[in-house]
Amino acid sequence: MKFSLVADTLGYMEGTTKRLELTQHLVDLFKITPPEIISKVAYLLQGKLRPEHEGIEIGVAEKIAIRALSKSTGVPALKIEHEYKKVGDFGHATANILEQKTQTTFLKEDITIERVYDTLFKIAELKGNRSQNMKMKYISSLLNDASPIEGRFIAKIITSNLRLGVADYTILDALSIAFTGSKENRPMLEHAYNVCSDLGRVAEDVAKNGIEALKHFQVSVFSPIRPMLAERVKDAQEAREKIQADFAAEYKLDGERVQVHMQKDKIILYSRSLENITNYYPDIVEKIGKSIKANEIILEAEAVAINENTGEFLPFQELMHRRRKYNIAKAVNEYPITVNFFDIMFVDGKSCLDMSYKERRRILESSINEDSFARVMPMMLIKTDDEVEDFLENAINSGCEGLMLKQLDSPYRAGARASNWLKLKREYKNELGDSLDLVVIGAFYGRGRRTGRYGALLLSAYDENTDGYPSVCKVGTGFTDESLDQFYQILSDKIIVKKDPRIDSGLEADVWFEPEVVIEIVASEITLSPIHKTALDKIRKGSGLALRFPKFTGKIRFEKTPENATSVDEIITMYNSQKKVVQDEKQF
Ligand code: ATP
Repeated sequence: MKFSLVADTLGYMEGTTKRLELTQHLVDLFKITPPEIISKVAYLLQGKLRPEHEGIEIGVAEKIAIRALSKSTGVPALKIEHEYKKVGDFGHATANILEQKTQTTFLKEDITIERVYDTLFKIAELKGNRSQNMKMKYISSLLNDASPIEGRFIAKIITSNLRLGVADYTILDALSIAFTGSKENRPMLEHAYNVCSDLGRVAEDVAKNGIEALKHFQVSVFSPIRPMLAERVKDAQEAREKIQADFAAEYKLDGERVQVHMQKDKIILYSRSLENITNYYPDIVEKIGKSIKANEIILEAEAVAINENTGEFLPFQELMHRRRKYNIAKAVNEYPITVNFFDIMFVDGKSCLDMSYKERRRILESSINEDSFARVMPMMLIKTDDEVEDFLENAINSGCEGLMLKQLDSPYRAGARASNWLKLKREYKNELGDSLDLVVIGAFYGRGRRTGRYGALLLSAYDENTDGYPSVCKVGTGFTDESLDQFYQILSDKIIVKKDPRIDSGLEADVWFEPEVVIEIVASEITLSPIHKTALDKIRKGSGLALRFPKFTGKIRFEKTPENATSVDEIITMYNSQKKVVQDEKQF
């Protein structure tokens, strides 16, 4: 299949910001794609070669790409750089240069999707200094045969600049329409995706075997499962109203969620956003094998920093010292941890996802030999509200954030935030209660002491229904000089010339970013807002919701993707429960 079909689709998509149109372009492409290569198309559309958790990066430096373009067109590198500076986008610059191409190629080969994909894969596999020349050769051979529009998107993909604003869920919608005729079957596709986190695999499965086959989609080791999430509650009574069934309480530790996949001696660890984090935890890899009584297993645990002398749990920030590229062995020594297992999703060929919590907990307990490093999360079956209060007290005294309350009969609902799991923290009882994790979508230049950096950031929630990023506040407090520098550095990589179509903002920022960085915010209140777009028209016509007195807590949530940020629905729930508190207080 010709790569020009993918390039044309990407071209149309760049020209629209409407989600329906974006989806329709994808539908048209999927319909004409042979099932054997549909997984490759699904990855390429997102500028990837494999699912994110496999960590395969094309990562070609712009300098190399410019040399390659120069080699295949005969246009001097300096002229290409000049063009790039003029148009501000490497893809467009490449297309312009290819238009003016002076060298003619006699033996032009057709560019197929397979050829582009395989060449990019070879480039991604090349490592080390000596690889630069090979990379350049591969790229120039592609560009040699590329039309301007093909060149434009090849250039964007190799330099990791393909920013179309299509999220996984838009692709699932398109697959559902293309292969089942309607969006109604999306939940089945979504289920398969939640179980394997691999869009290419889901696309291939539905294209080859049809929607019915997805019912039997299997969990497999080394395909991370999208984690089950919890709703917030402020006390035992609210928990009881929400769960409406028997439940257990577990300690809620303040560490990093780790999904452990093990098959014989091989262990891979995935973060909450399913990034491969095995390198940060060599101690888990070394020690847990002997605690696990199975050949093949998928488990979930919270890794928590501890004080080895007192056994006390330490806060999340301590653990973040592990997130470094070098000197990991030193960090392992300085920041010791324990691993606290709280769920099991697969064991020796059998999926546990559809089993009840009670059953999973029984299997979990019988699959782990506890020691001082690997433990099973403390748990208590709850009969009365007082027991929740007592257990919460114990948890807080041991350094926990609070409790997780889990309905005894509930299955593991991959990728869902549902009322079968609730989180109860002490701080939910005051002010707005919980913090929010928001996405940085824009920034405003600073003045005075903040000149040369950003003075305030524009933040959004995540709207799961539209796959959008509606603005919810502008935040300028809570930053130290160090964090302002850090933001300037991190965010400079995310600047986009054209606002991402998924961003919906009532304020015009000085700079727009690719919605990627998630930070933690506390606020005093959620109010109706004529400016911000979160939950627009949902509470009152013409108004959205916004945060009052937002403040950065100092936590950048590296382990969260923008889709994991606080959702619009959660903000609506927080707004309503805050209203309820005010009303309740008025009654007395
Ligand atoms: P999210 O709910 O989206 O994960 P968050 O990280 O802000 O957002 P938290 O309020 O920290 O949510 O609560 C959920 C997290 O609590 C889990 O992702 C997990 O890392 C952690 N956790 C700690 N103990 C447990 C437990 N016993 N069961 C489940 N999760 C736990």
